[in-house]
Amino acid sequence: MTAPLTVIRNATAILPDRLLPAARVLLRAGRILEITKDRARVPRDAVVVDAAGGYVSPGFIDVHVHGGAGADFMDGTAEAVRTACRAHARHGTTTIFPTTTTGSPAEIHALLTACRTVRDEASPANGARIAGVHLYGPFFAPDKVGCHAVDGRRDPTAAEFGKYFATGLVRIATCAAELPGAAAFYRAAQRHGCFITCGHSNASWTEMARAFRGGMRHVDHFWCAMSSVPSVRARLGTPMQGSMEQFVLANRAMSTEVIADGEHLAPELLEFAWRMIGPERLLLVTDSSRALDRPPGRYKFGHPLTGTDFDHDGKVGRAPGGSLASSVMGLDHMVRVMKARTPAPLCDVIRMASLTPAERTGLASDRGSLEPGKRADILVLSPTLRVKQVWLDGVNVRR
Ligand SMILES: [Zn+2]
Ligand SMILES: [Zn+2]
Repeated sequence: MTAPLTVIRNATAILPDRLLPAARVLLRAGRILEITKDRARVPRDAVVVDAAGGYVSPGFIDVHVHGGAGADFMDGTAEAVRTACRAHARHGTTTIFPTTTTGSPAEIHALLTACRTVRDEASPANGARIAGVHLYGPFFAPDKVGCHAVDGRRDPTAAEFGKYFATGLVRIATCAAELPGAAAFYRAAQRHGCFITCGHSNASWTEMARAFRGGMRHVDHFWCAMSSVPSVRARLGTPMQGSMEQFVLANRAMSTEVIADGEHLAPELLEFAWRMIGPERLLLVTDSSRALDRPPGRYKFGHPLTGTDFDHDGKVGRAPGGSLASSVMGLDHMVRVMKARTPAPLCDVIRMASLTPAERTGLASDRGSLEPGKRADILVLSPTLRVKQVWLDGVNVRR
């Protein structure tokens, strides 16, 4: 017996480099079978879905995300992980990398264990599929801790990070390049096949170049908690030196990401990033906290006991002093902001939320675009880019 066929029709298919209007997308046995021009006839026994003139998009892939719907991955329970992953699936994320904050080794191990449990359940009912953990905190520069708990920050030691890598769960690994121990961290991350990134850092060009030789290829949330020419001058004096910003702009092998919630970065910076870095090196991330899909109010960023307080004002998270404390939005919102407030074409915008993160994390042969044979992680979006339906491995999880 052949597996049932799903036909999504009356849609514009979003391909990595162009839109295909009047299209249909066929799914079978959890995979994409075909993307063709729409026709009136459909095979008998097919499940037909009318996209009502909207879009069919590959599911989104979020490499930097802390939680949602009241749960932070640092809560360290399987139920919290499921809650956050389900919330992000409703916003179109089908592959997710739960991201650590600063915190104690025990807290980080609890996150790893909880993520393993949920990943191994392999249930579409759990929402966005966990492709691995993003080990983000605690190895930040002391002067770039941002909204994370300062007490949970420290320099990397092999005794600590070796245990995280040994779980096999860490697929993305962040460390500030200037820290003592960073070179050993990058070596270990490379040995474990991680996508290596530098974030919450005040690194100079020279330190970035050294990190690059160690395998570092990405910078977290461009312009946020990262070095600039003035910040490197304040740290290292004159002559003024290049910073993380120049290093990413000048080096075609580097990628980065933006928090395109409309609150972190003004439209001209989003446009600048798209123009200067380009859709093949720029990722959209949510960096969202547990306040996603929760009413305005006070929340904890990170662990419920040792994390920091922030206020969700309806648009963004803010630390008590007023500085930014991560987003409260899903990737669908980032896609809408990028489309509405920059000249980037829709295929570029969707690429930055799907294929580009898939390529950077080594998943592109399996997912990230509408291509026959890839996983049927599929979204139907309305003409205004609202998420209408979500398929995970060909299973419809939201109607
Ligand atoms: Zn951050
Ligand atoms: Zn973050």
